[in-house]
Amino acid sequence: MLEQKAGRLFLVTAPSGAGKSSLVAALLKADPTVHLSISHTTRAPRPGEENGREYHFVTVEEFEHLKEENAFLEWAYVHGNYYGTSKKWIAEELEKGHDVLLEIDWQGALQVKRLFPDVVGVFILPPSVEALRSRLNKRGTDSDEVIARRLAGAGAEMVHAGEFDYVIINDDFDRATGDLIAIVRASRLSFKTQAVRERKTFIHLGIPLL
Ligand code: GDP
Ligand code: ADP
Ligand code: 5GP
Repeated sequence: MLEQKAGRLFLVTAPSGAGKSSLVAALLKADPTVHLSISHTTRAPRPGEENGREYHFVTVEEFEHLKEENAFLEWAYVHGNYYGTSKKWIAEELEKGHDVLLEIDWQGALQVKRLFPDVVGVFILPPSVEALRSRLNKRGTDSDEVIARRLAGAGAEMVHAGEFDYVIINDDFDRATGDLIAIVRASRLSFKTQAVRERKTFIHLGIPLL
C-alpha cells in the first residue's frame, strides 16, 4: 500500500460514450490545479487525437516492454486494446503535492484502490442506453463495429458502479460538471487532507493531527 501525501488522487470511470472525457475536460478548465494522467494505449489515435495529449500511443511491443519494466501503476485490456497508467509520473505528482486525476476503466480502478485506499472514485453513468448509443454515434470517432463492441460491453461495466464512492448521471452536462467539481472540492476538505494541507493552522489551533 502506498502512502498518499498532500496530493489527492481521483479516478473517473464510465462506459464509453457516457461523457467522461468531456466532463473531465470541463473540470480541468474550471480547476487547472487538477493534473490529468495521460495513459499509454495500444489503440490507434482517433482523428484529432495527438500523441502525448490524449494518450501516449504505443505499439503492443512497446506496451509489453513497459509492462515488463514494471512501469505501470495499473494496466488493463479494454475493448480489444491495452491501457496503462504511468507509475513514475503519478508518484512524482503526488510527491509534489499535486492533485491527480485518472480516467481509467473499472478493472484499473480496482487495482488503484488497492494501492491507494484514499483514492476518490467517481463513476459516470449515461441517463439511458439509448443516450449512450446516440452519443457514440454523434461523436463520430469510431466505426460501427467499434461502437457495437463498446455498447455490448457497457452493461458489464456499469454493474461495477457500486464499487465507487460517487456516481454522476450525465444527463444535463452543466449540472453533471458542477457535480464533478463539487466532489473534487469536498474531497479536499476531508479532515485527513486538511490535516496535511493546513498542518500549521491545525498545530496553531491545538488540533490533534490523529
Ligand atoms: P472512451 O471510453 O470513449 O473514452 O474511449 P477510450 O478508447 O479513450 O478508452 C476506452 C476505455 O479504456 C475507457 O473505459 C477508459 O477509461 C479506459 N482507459 C483509458 N486509459 C486507461 C488506463 O490507463 N488504464 C485503464 N485501466 N483503463 C484506461
Ligand atoms: P467518454 O469519454 O465517456 O467516451 P465523451 O466525453 O467522448 O465520452 O462523450 C461522448 C459524446 O457525448 C461526445 O460527443 C460528447 O460531446 C457527448 N456528450 C457528453 N455529455 C453529454 C450530455 N450531458 N448530453 C449530451 N451529449 C453529451
Ligand atoms: P508537472 O505537472 O509535473 O509539473 O508537469 C509534467 C508535464 O509532463 C505534464 O504536463 C504532463 O502532461 C507531462 N507528462 C510527461 N510524461 C508524462 C507521463 O508519463 N504521464 C503523464 N500523465 N504526463 C506526462
